[in-house]
Amino acid sequence: MQKDWCRMMNRTIAYVPSDNDVGVPVVIYRRVVEGLVEGNHWSDPPPHLADDLKSIKKALKGHFYNCQSRRCCYCSIELPNHGASIYLDHVISRRDRPDFMLSLNNLGAACGPCNGSKSAKPVLIEGLDVAGVVNVPMDSGAYILVHPQLDEWADHFELDEFSRIRKTTDKGGKTIEMCGIDKLNAARLSDHFASRDRAEVVKVITKVGSYKQRARKQRAIQLLRDLAYRGSDKARVAVARIEMEVI
Ligand SMILES: [Zn+2]
Repeated sequence: MQKDWCRMMNRTIAYVPSDNDVGVPVVIYRRVVEGLVEGNHWSDPPPHLADDLKSIKKALKGHFYNCQSRRCCYCSIELPNHGASIYLDHVISRRDRPDFMLSLNNLGAACGPCNGSKSAKPVLIEGLDVAGVVNVPMDSGAYILVHPQLDEWADHFELDEFSRIRKTTDKGGKTIEMCGIDKLNAARLSDHFASRDRAEVVKVITKVGSYKQRARKQRAIQLLRDLAYRGSDKARVAVARIEMEVI
């Protein structure tokens, strides 16, 4: 542990917000930034920083909740106004760059599924070394996914008639893949099926695209078609749409 404290003395501090940015006195913020030197300090901080980190997390959640108009920075679902349901996502993972852990430019408020699915996946474009960048890259082109601070959500996605989130750019597509947004899309489509069938429908829809054999895909579509008879008219339209997309 002592070694960590020594090592941090030589570290560049990526970013410390002013008092007004998140409502935490800069002197406290700086002390915590300097003290969190390992990725796991986010959930297991040095004891003398635990209370201040807790306050900072609460302030950051409030900050991003409001800045992002209460929406998840990746899938755009409305976040509940409850701290435990808001996840602070580190765009560049805290495992890769603990020194970016409290950098406002490296954070966004996300829902649990997006935050969990994205996890510590690499986000920088090929050729950019995550260990080599000095500060949080502030060029949107440096990232393969839609960045909470540098990109406009609506520039990369649109909603279809089933309220599914569809990509309009490669970055949008990568974000859907990395954050597991296909599951949310499948759930939205399943809303048109009978409630007892929805879990099964989500399972089939999320898998059918990955099947290699055409016959297997067709069997899955037939199952959806059978289930659609217990749903609304739109369930049958949904199956036709899925069939068009995967076969
Ligand atoms: Zn989300």
